[in-house]
Amino acid sequence: MTIDEFDIAILGGGNAGMTLAAKLSLASCDKSIIIFEPHSPKLKSATWSTWADDSEVSSLKPYLKGIWKRWKIVGNQSEVVHKSLDFSYIAIDATKYLEGCAKIIDDRVKLISSYVETKKISDGILLLAQEKKFIADLIFDSRPANPDENGLKQHFIGWEIEVNQTLTDTDTVTLMDFRADQSRGIHFIYALPLSGNKLLVESTMLSKNVENDDWYYDAIEEWLTLNKLSIKEKLREERGVIPMHKTKLPSSDLIDIGVRGGSVRLSSGYSFSIVQQQANALVEKIINNDSSLLLKTKGYPLGFLDSVFNRVLLDYPSIAAEIFVKHSSALDGNEFASFMRGSQNIRIWFKVMSALPKFIFIQSFFKTLFSYDYR
Ligand SMILES: Cc1cc2nc3c(=O)[nH]c(=O)nc-3n(C[C@H](O)[C@H](O)[C@H](O)COP(=O)(O)OP(=O)(O)OC[C@H]3O[C@@H](n4cnc5c(N)ncnc54)[C@H](O)[C@@H]3O)c2cc1C
Repeated sequence: MTIDEFDIAILGGGNAGMTLAAKLSLASCDKSIIIFEPHSPKLKSATWSTWADDSEVSSLKPYLKGIWKRWKIVGNQSEVVHKSLDFSYIAIDATKYLEGCAKIIDDRVKLISSYVETKKISDGILLLAQEKKFIADLIFDSRPANPDENGLKQHFIGWEIEVNQTLTDTDTVTLMDFRADQSRGIHFIYALPLSGNKLLVESTMLSKNVENDDWYYDAIEEWLTLNKLSIKEKLREERGVIPMHKTKLPSSDLIDIGVRGGSVRLSSGYSFSIVQQQANALVEKIINNDSSLLLKTKGYPLGFLDSVFNRVLLDYPSIAAEIFVKHSSALDGNEFASFMRGSQNIRIWFKVMSALPKFIFIQSFFKTLFSYDYR
C-alpha cells in the first residue's frame, strides 16, 4: 500500500483545525495540508459565543447570530449588569463558521471525511483513514480527549425557541441566572435573545456528573415560566460537555491544539478566542519554519489560577452564585470581557481573586498548588 505524504496533517476539523487551516491559507502558506474530519459542518449544531473587539466582530460578521453590548449575571438576591464600549458579546453559528473556513482553504488543503487513527512507527507517526496510510512532517491534533470521570465539567442542553410573547429586553444577554434548582450542583440558565420573539435558552450545570435530559428540559421550562414566557415553536436543540480540568492525554509526538491543547478557560469553558489566538501564533511559527513548533503548544497560561477558582466551585458549590455575582461586580464591563476572553492581565486576576472569601481562596490555592497538573 502506498503512503501519501503531506507537510502538515490536522486531526479534527472543528474550530481549532479549520481555523488553523483557514488562517494558513489566508497567509498564503505554500505547504501541503491534509485535514481529517468525520462530520460535516451541517451536523455541528452549536452556538459558540465569546467577547470580541470591533475588528473581530467585522471579520466574523457573516457567521454571527447576534451581537450585544450588555450582559447580566443574576443571583438569588441581586444582579450585576455590565456594558462594554471595547467589546461586544457575540454568538457564532458553528455550522456557518466551519463552512466559511472550508471556503477559505485553498487547493493545497485536502479534506478527508473520516475518523483518523494514529500508529507509532520507528521514525514517526503513521496516520490511518479510509484504509489508506498518510505521513506528515507536522501533525496537529485537535481530537477531543475524554473528560475525567471525577473532574469538574460544564454540561448543558439548550433550546432555540420562538416564544408567544414579545421579549422586553433584546439588548442584554443573560450569562448566568442562578434562579434554578441547585440540588445537584451549580446550576444556571443562559439566555440569548436572538430577536424580538426568538431565544436560545440553556440549562447549564457545573458539576462532575452529566444529568438525564429531563433535568435540563425541566429547568428551561421553569425559567420560561418564571419569566412569563411560553414556547410557540422549538426550533433547535444543542448540547455539550466541556471539561473544566486538564484532560489526561496519552503521551504523543503530536502537537495538541484546540481544547485538547489547553485552549480553553478552565473556569468558564470559553475557548473560541483562545483557539483563535493559538492559531495566529501557530501560523506565524509555521510560516517562519520556527523549530519551537515542536515543543508542546501552550494553552491558556494562567490556567493555574483558573484551577484555584474551580477548586472553590468544587468544594463550595452552595456559594457559587454569590461568588459569581461578587466576582463580576468587582470588574467593570471591559475588564470582565477581557477576563473572559483569556486576558493574562494579573491586575484583573487580582481583583477576581480578592472578591473570593479569603479563607476559602487561601485553602483552595494551597490545595491546587499540590494537586495541579503542571503540563
Ligand atoms: C453545543 C456547544 C456549545 C458551545 N458553546 C461554546 C461557547 O459559547 N463558547 C466557546 O468558547 N466554546 C463553546 N463550546 C466549546 C466548543 O466546543 C469550542 O469552542 C470549540 O469547538 C473547540 O474547538 P476544538 O477544535 O478544540 O474542538 P472541536 O470543535 O470539538 O473539534 C474537534 C473535532 O475533532 C473531530 N474528531 C473527533 N474524533 C476524531 C477522529 N478520530 N479523527 C478525526 N477527527 C475527529 C470532531 O468531529 C470535531 O470536529 C461549545 C461546545 C458545544 C458542543
